[in-house]
Amino acid sequence: MRNVHFHRHGGPEVLEYHELPEPSVGPGEVLVRLKAAALNRSDLWVREGWVGLKLEMPHIPGGDGAGVIGSLGAGVEGPAEGSRVVVNGNLSCGHCEFCLAGQDNLCRDWHLLGETVRGTYAEAVAVPVRNVLPLPEGVDDHAAAAAGLVFLTAWHSLITRGRLQPGETVLIIGASGGVNTASIQVAKLAGARVLVVGSKPDKLQLAESLGADGVIDRSLDENWSKAAFEATGRRGADVVVDNVGAATFAMSLRAARKGGRILTVGNTTGPKFEIDNRYIFGKHLSVLGSTMGTHRDFARVMNLVFEGKLRPVLDRTYPLSQARSAQEYLASGQQMGKVTLAIG
Ligand code: ZN
Repeated sequence: MRNVHFHRHGGPEVLEYHELPEPSVGPGEVLVRLKAAALNRSDLWVREGWVGLKLEMPHIPGGDGAGVIGSLGAGVEGPAEGSRVVVNGNLSCGHCEFCLAGQDNLCRDWHLLGETVRGTYAEAVAVPVRNVLPLPEGVDDHAAAAAGLVFLTAWHSLITRGRLQPGETVLIIGASGGVNTASIQVAKLAGARVLVVGSKPDKLQLAESLGADGVIDRSLDENWSKAAFEATGRRGADVVVDNVGAATFAMSLRAARKGGRILTVGNTTGPKFEIDNRYIFGKHLSVLGSTMGTHRDFARVMNLVFEGKLRPVLDRTYPLSQARSAQEYLASGQQMGKVTLAIG
């Protein structure tokens, strides 16, 4: 099968468009013939590698995908061959204490497609049957692939972990990334008032078009936590969503109200930064981290996508053979929403 992989960690130049044998389909698994894959920022970090990351080389990136069922492994009765599905890239063992309790995101043997095992930048991928969801007619492969991990992440963080309530004010740091554009919509759907902090007018416009009630341009005011304070009636936000990290986290702690929650699922500007602990205890803050979500979250949020209540923002699509250009574009930070790959 055609795929994009790398034999060693490094820059975009390590990506190769090549042939590899199709993955074998184990018991309980299905083979998905992919039509679309979506990029995530984590694809770039996996390609660059980190201390302790041990991959079977060559490694195929990609955690998101949609396509059709190609074949069924032993013991699998459906979905029928040829039927359309979207892939959930979260792989869990299915039998540890956390999986049995429905908290499969805490699985003791958790893996993410494209991160620790071969992923979706390929014509086919084999996954456990519980990792595919039937895709209704009328839902585009690229929209489904683009929605997967970012809407799962936003839903799990805001709803399952953050317990967002109607009428609460959510301050989202960053206007245009996949998770942030998903978070704006999930928070609105939950009945929250949404404020967005961003640094570029076109990205703030996108946030408004997705339902943001107010936007704060941090390029105009470095000390944007003051503007956020004013925008919340000098009270502070109930919930602050910060996936930017090093560049913004200190300000996020200041922008939260007393007793507020800080939600984080990542750190696009870097993972290591100083925290003034006085804000955390002095303001009774809760810092809630999560990554991805459960199978139950995936089904719930994808059904809302299928119903059109949540809408993935698609920026542009590259052919699979040009995955390198796609990753370079994502790394440039110019994108407004998701970048996808067309396969086959
Ligand atoms: Zn498990």
